[in-house]
Amino acid sequence: MTHPLKHRCSICRKTYELEYEKGQKLPPHFPFCSARCKTIDLGKWLNEEYRISASLPDAETMTETEKEILAQLLFDMEEVDDIINEDE
Ligand SMILES: [Zn+2]
Repeated sequence: MTHPLKHRCSICRKTYELEYEKGQKLPPHFPFCSARCKTIDLGKWLNEEYRISASLPDAETMTETEKEILAQLLFDMEEVDDIINEDE
């Protein structure tokens, strides 16, 4: 039996429910409501990193590209996770 947990996403501030059973893996996008919000959070984090470590004039363009690659990676990873979860 799973119990729906209520959690507030720190990105979109939306309260969402997730099904979680003790001892089971949390959803891959936790603590965010979706993969999209997780990507946004990682993108923000990357932005901060680039601002601190490198002040290149085209840093923003690089970050956009980085975000796109990251988003693609995250979505690909989630697909793999879904397949693993179904097997378990
Ligand atoms: Zn969200």
